[in-house]
Order: sequence, then structure tokens, then C-alpha cells
Amino acid sequence: MALPEGIQTLSDDMPTEWTPNRAKPAPVVAMPGWVESLRRGLAMRCPACGEAPAFQGYLKVTPACPHCAAPLGRVPCDDAPPYITLLLALHVVVLIIVLSDAGGSMTYITSLVIFVPLTIVLELVLLRPVKGATLAVMLKVNLLRRDAPAAKPTAADHD
Ligand SMILES: [Zn+2]
Repeated sequence: MALPEGIQTLSDDMPTEWTPNRAKPAPVVAMPGWVESLRRGLAMRCPACGEAPAFQGYLKVTPACPHCAAPLGRVPCDDAPPYITLLLALHVVVLIIVLSDAGGSMTYITSLVIFVPLTIVLELVLLRPVKGATLAVMLKVNLLRRDAPAAKPTAADHD
């Protein structure tokens, strides 16, 4: 029985294993070295060129760098910057608590009045540079979303 053209039988020479394409995709942006990228990210500048700010507001990332067109808005930072910020800030605060209250004489109210605002301020101060550094790392390893993030759904979308 003859098979239709283009159909092969299993006894034909066919590959038995499939190997994925592991070739690295071409970088989207020309990036400087790790130290320079991180320095620019920590300074909240575009990690690729360092000429333009990476943020539009406090935490909103510019969709694309106005100077070098690096697609900063496609970098999926998501929850990494707050997580890293919490990790850093809480280690610092706990170290300060342990060192300042070695004798255990500080009251709970005093601790609350001092360390809760300190934690909040530290979080707010560290969040932007940490997000800039995360942006730099992800852009450096070419980890980008395929498309720009979709706009948030509005109430009109649900009608
Ligand atoms: Zn740039």
C-alpha cells in the first residue's frame, strides 16, 4: 500500500530525540558591563545608556528610553524589587534593633515608635534604586516580555 506523498512510515530514518534550540537570542540592546549597568540602575537611570531616567514617576518604568530606545517597559520586574527591598531593609532594621537593645530595656512602645517608621522610610528609600538595579540585571540578561504590558483593564472593559 502506497502512502500519500509527504507521509513517512516509522521505519524511515527519523530523529528519535528532539533537541531544543538553545542558541542565545540576539540582545535587544547593547549593554555595558555588569558594574556599569548596575551602577546606572542603582542611580535610577537607563541601564543601557545612563543618559535618561528609567522611571516616569516614583516606580513607573519608562516604556522606552527616550535617548537610546531601550525597551525598559518590557522588562518584567514584577515583585522582585519589593521582595529584595524587604529582604535588605528588614535585615538592617533587625540588626539595629539587636544592637540598640542589647540589654532588653527598651519598651515595646519605644520600639514601635522608632523602628516602624524607620522600616517604612528605609523601604521607600531603597525601593527605587533596587528596582533600577533589577531593571539593569534583567535587561543585561536580555529577559524581556514579548510585548509591552497591556494597559490595565478599565470598568468599561467589563460591561
Ligand atoms: Zn537609554
